[in-house]
Amino acid sequence: MNGFSKVASVILFSGFGKELTYIVPDSLADKLLVGSLVKVPLRGTMADGIVCDIKDYNSSDYSGFKLKNVYSVVGECPVLTKELFDLAKWIASYYACTVQQAVEAMLPAVVKSGKEVQRNLEIRLSENVKQSDIDALKNRAKNQYKICEYLSKNKFPILKAALCKSLNVSLSSVDALIEKNIVCQRDTELLKFAFDDDISQNEVVAAKDLPLNEQQQNALNDICAQLAQNKFKTHLLYGVTGSGKTEVYIRAMRSVLENGGSCIFMVPEISLTPQTVGRLRSKLNLSASELVVWHSNLSDGQRLQAWKSMINGSAKVAVGARSCVFAPMQNLKLIIVDEEHDTAYKQENMPRYNARDLAVYRASLNGALALLGSATPSLETLYNVQNAKYSISKMTSRVDDRAMPKIMLVDMKREKPNAIFSNILRDKVLARLDCKEQVILFLNRRGYSKLFQCPDCGYVATCPKCSVSLTWHRKEDYVMCHMCGHKEKAPQKCPNCGSLKAKWKSFGTQKVEEYISQTFPQAKVARIDADTMKKRDEYRRIFGEFRKGNIDMLVGTQMISKGLDFPKVTLVGILNADISLNMEDFRANERTYQLIVQVSGRAGRGTGGGEVIVQTMNPDAPPIQYARKDNLEDFLKEELENRMRFSYPPAKRLIRHIFRSRNPDKLAFYCEHFAKKAELELGSSVLMRGPAPAPIEKIQEYYRWHLWYFCTNVRSTVEKIMRVRNSFTFDKDIEDVLDVDPYSTI
Ligand SMILES: [Zn+2]
Ligand SMILES: [Zn+2]
Repeated sequence: MNGFSKVASVILFSGFGKELTYIVPDSLADKLLVGSLVKVPLRGTMADGIVCDIKDYNSSDYSGFKLKNVYSVVGECPVLTKELFDLAKWIASYYACTVQQAVEAMLPAVVKSGKEVQRNLEIRLSENVKQSDIDALKNRAKNQYKICEYLSKNKFPILKAALCKSLNVSLSSVDALIEKNIVCQRDTELLKFAFDDDISQNEVVAAKDLPLNEQQQNALNDICAQLAQNKFKTHLLYGVTGSGKTEVYIRAMRSVLENGGSCIFMVPEISLTPQTVGRLRSKLNLSASELVVWHSNLSDGQRLQAWKSMINGSAKVAVGARSCVFAPMQNLKLIIVDEEHDTAYKQENMPRYNARDLAVYRASLNGALALLGSATPSLETLYNVQNAKYSISKMTSRVDDRAMPKIMLVDMKREKPNAIFSNILRDKVLARLDCKEQVILFLNRRGYSKLFQCPDCGYVATCPKCSVSLTWHRKEDYVMCHMCGHKEKAPQKCPNCGSLKAKWKSFGTQKVEEYISQTFPQAKVARIDADTMKKRDEYRRIFGEFRKGNIDMLVGTQMISKGLDFPKVTLVGILNADISLNMEDFRANERTYQLIVQVSGRAGRGTGGGEVIVQTMNPDAPPIQYARKDNLEDFLKEELENRMRFSYPPAKRLIRHIFRSRNPDKLAFYCEHFAKKAELELGSSVLMRGPAPAPIEKIQEYYRWHLWYFCTNVRSTVEKIMRVRNSFTFDKDIEDVLDVDPYSTI
């Protein structure tokens, strides 16, 4: 033997793009495992990487190659599991990225760095220490005596390292005292981890189990029956807003825990729902290291510790947002994706994955159950139910037989032109404020909109080929489809009613605020108006104040539609339902339906009952009508027909190819050229639309174009596109990226 018998495949973090093979020296054989971080020699320097595979060495496989040794193993134990490498490979082939990019998306930077958990150890005198024990140290162990003397004067625990430094004593002196039970220590990093969130400490956590109603019990029985089969399955829990889905999730998790399995529980906005974590810990009776929270506000220490407790199997439940789908749980049996329709599950940077879809794939790798929940499931998911790929449980009534909110439509064509509030909404708000009840006003500003809409009849120009709204280019006075590039002169009068006033005006949060402060001067109003990460803490504060009743009225955009529970809200107003209806997006109808149902769901969650006013120019539009009746079935039927007719998902899968450059002429030229090449390679099985300028034609200095592929098999299409792309000579000024199953069309 030549001192080794195994070789390791290593993914380097330096962007090398492919796996390299290294010899595992016998001295490292025990420590080096799949998922271990390693240092390896590369071109005369040391590079960091991770072991993704270990094989027996067979000299004939490598004849002519001179393999080098792995230099060292970093850290105590592996940081990724075999299963997550399999997931990474799938991500790479599906979302058109490298395995390295997928692995790096999974691994938090602090874990990748190979750091170990820094223990923040606090010490204090033990409670039953006798003074005589301390005195006995005086002559025999001076340093130990010094420590005790100091601690007896200080009531509060002190950091071990800080104490050693200030008294100039060694750690071993402290450890000797701990050994003798004179001093005790505790890990404060662990404590921090327990109270993952400042708010959950103060919030009263309801620990008592609420009894399940019949529908909840039936749903739970369905889910437990699936779990008992112990094999991969995807199940949809369709439950109207307020139907008590969380109670069902909790009991399903309990059943998994009882059988020794672990769970991942994903929510779209973990940082906005701190009460979830406290409630889960107490109901599942799990400690901080057994139920870990995974979100973007964790400190490096917390993140590292959470990761370690998941990978070593001590964590049984991981709760978090999108990236929680990568939680390295052991014996994973259940992945819950709450509000599965939410666009927050889609990552908009490379790799552009959808965490809901990854959850389903990951469940398949583990023989686990993927449980998707929503009051407004996505069309893709419903389609899979229709085709019996997914099973379903339905909960159609609210808990405690609370009534669904009453939804009333107001035709804004009959109000004053460009009115922000209808008379009826104004009167209702006044009445609620008088009774000291709370109001939510939703202002729709989703995406981007320069529509060509008639103020008299509500007509909106759409593309004949793509069935999406046309964008009005005011300066040049033409309308354009940003999916296929179709362009025509803006109509001078409304093609529907002949009105000459065809002009569309929007109003922003500021105007709404002005109106509110003039019309309801006595109300305490708070505003939530941008979906930015920076303001999370401010959102949480406002939501907290609102829940306590210190704010009367909440005015906001997207963020307030996300599953929040405010029991004292009895009126919800949707100021402009039309904007999501008339987007240059094939999902416009679906978004409108989801938005109205979800926002309405914020009303009447307490005992007071609830009412919803929807202001619209198109009260007859099907998604608005179906949402008013909460009629998912008929909405689905009609919308699926639309999607089939124009080959949109779920009829076909979509891939969006985005190109950008500072030079608009070059960009147009290369896009056209690339599209022709791609058409030849892809053949007739893949439908293409575009290239066309993206709806947002310029971001910062960059012009943007896009190209759409409609296909049935994503992976083979991605492979073909990449082949064309790799043989195509782009100008160096042009960048491109593929977005598979895109949510964004702008
Ligand atoms: Zn008209
Ligand atoms: Zn078009």
